[in-house]
Amino acid sequence: MTRVNPGGTIGILGGGQLGRMLALAAANLGYRCHIYCPEENSPAFQVADQTTVASYTNEEALTDFARAVDVATYEFENVPAQTADIVSKNTLLRPGARALMVSQDRLVEKEFLADSGVKTAPYQAFHSAAELKEAFKSIGRPSVAKTRRFGYDGKGQQLVKSSKDLDKVLSVTNSTPAILEGFVNFDREISVIVARSASGDVAAYPVSENVHTNHILDITTVPAKVSDMVEAKAKVIAAKVANALEYVGVMTVEMFVSDAKGQIIVNEIAPRVHNSGHWTMDGATTSQFEQHIRAICDLPLGATNARGIIRMKNLLGDDILDNEQYLADPKASFHHYGKSDPRPGRKMGHVTWVDADD
Ligand code: AMP
Repeated sequence: MTRVNPGGTIGILGGGQLGRMLALAAANLGYRCHIYCPEENSPAFQVADQTTVASYTNEEALTDFARAVDVATYEFENVPAQTADIVSKNTLLRPGARALMVSQDRLVEKEFLADSGVKTAPYQAFHSAAELKEAFKSIGRPSVAKTRRFGYDGKGQQLVKSSKDLDKVLSVTNSTPAILEGFVNFDREISVIVARSASGDVAAYPVSENVHTNHILDITTVPAKVSDMVEAKAKVIAAKVANALEYVGVMTVEMFVSDAKGQIIVNEIAPRVHNSGHWTMDGATTSQFEQHIRAICDLPLGATNARGIIRMKNLLGDDILDNEQYLADPKASFHHYGKSDPRPGRKMGHVTWVDADD
């Protein structure tokens, strides 16, 4: 396995807040970062050693970028396959292209999870109106239609409560390939942030419990209000997924929990650090960002224990204007992503409160 030592350069595809926090963590471990992003003024550029502004289809710029770094990684799952291919031909790409392929397509993802022995909601693929009708017959109601690709924060999704809703589905999926999945009557949504190093060591963080508002993560709390059995089972599932992908880096497995049955159903995976792991910056010895850098550089993984009772709140849009309130709060750790335009719903920063054990 190839170790990248401090002093080396890490390339990051994507220049948003995740790339920014990865670069800050990398700097703390003695690495330099080179950020590749098509948008000028990307938040990660403010904290990077080198930057490239070019499109993800610019073969020459991608090749130069890859040759200038010791290892490359990404902060978003929609990196085009061709981009990943160019980068991996010229440097180490961690996590690899398979993690992207699986997580970019909900059907491939569901099939991979089923093959790995992980329980998901029942699902059926459809494209045409006739196929949708067939899928609705076998999956039943309520169900949720989701586009196979490029869906996030509830976009490209339609709840189907009765056959009357079927007409809406094709307009929401825009007649692109999609899946219909059974609606899960869960009690809570959780996620597990898990790391797997290039040497194959695996470490999972305590389970995060997540509350969404308007399909966007609002609050994460740790510990999650789940039984010890569910906590342990969730971590085992996350490790299983990471191992099945021969994954290198930090990944996130989102799950639905039914308390009475102690049942866990995997919703989706994200091949990257995740909003529901931001609490680790202030609430764990090793943040998810540092852990990702450790994993891709093949350093030993760090401790994942939580330092107490933790609550993380996202600051969306104008919420960031309350910064003075958080700065004045002796228990709050405030994080600003350096974005200047607080558009409604845009992730501008977050705050974490840690009620320490000691
Ligand atoms: P996703 O984009 O798949 O993460 O879905 C966004 C949100 O929609 C999830 O966080 C859930 O709150 C809800 N959701 C998605 N799929 C289902 C399902 N099969 N059953 C119930 N709720 C769901």
